[in-house]
Amino acid sequence: MTFHGLLITALLGPELARWKAAGHAPVFWWRDDDARRPSPALDRLLELSRRFGAPITLAAVPDGDLPALAQVCASTPGVELAIHGFRHENRAPAGQPSGEVNDQDSLEGVAAEVEAAIAVFARAGVEAELFVPPWNNAHPTLDAALVRHGLVVSRYGELRAPGAAPPRIDAHLDVMRWKPTARFRGARRFLLRARRLLVERRVRGLWDDPIGLLTHHLDHDEASWTFLEAFLARFTPVSRRGL
Ligand SMILES: [Zn+2]
Repeated sequence: MTFHGLLITALLGPELARWKAAGHAPVFWWRDDDARRPSPALDRLLELSRRFGAPITLAAVPDGDLPALAQVCASTPGVELAIHGFRHENRAPAGQPSGEVNDQDSLEGVAAEVEAAIAVFARAGVEAELFVPPWNNAHPTLDAALVRHGLVVSRYGELRAPGAAPPRIDAHLDVMRWKPTARFRGARRFLLRARRLLVERRVRGLWDDPIGLLTHHLDHDEASWTFLEAFLARFTPVSRRGL
């Protein structure tokens, strides 16, 4: 077993044993962000997906080359393309959290942006179901526009909230850390967060509340790839579409 495999067993084993004793297994799904076009890093990501039978939801920015991206992804079973914002452009006023939608935007304007993004995906042969706002932008105008177009939203860190509008399914476990520069989060840090997420679900009896693995293939250093491989060797994410 690899070093990371041993660490997974050491840090998550006792908690996973409690799940098993209760007759449950955690549900993971996998989101990767920031795709715009095919790349060697995307090939590497898709190879991992195929090798481990792990479906990916790939959040792609509509201003990229969607037809080429869709074509490459078609070679891997279970890849879902999700809409990752409009242009991945931070339009927040100074001092506000980053995001593409702000208080000055009208619902009509934002709904038109969402509609245009859906159309870009449709022209590439993709019927988009999920919207992933860059920077986890949680503006109510954006949410209203997503509801109008019947899209599900994915941000970061929350449990599912039945009846929420729009319906929401988050990512929770980021392989990377971002400040001061993008790099691997660290196996210990990642696994301790994973353990907290597992404990939270077990204690609340939310056994089927999915945990979202989050990757950014264009930003991975070698340590991120190595750990991701060890994680996928141990846990097989399910398709977002089935959740
Ligand atoms: Zn992004």
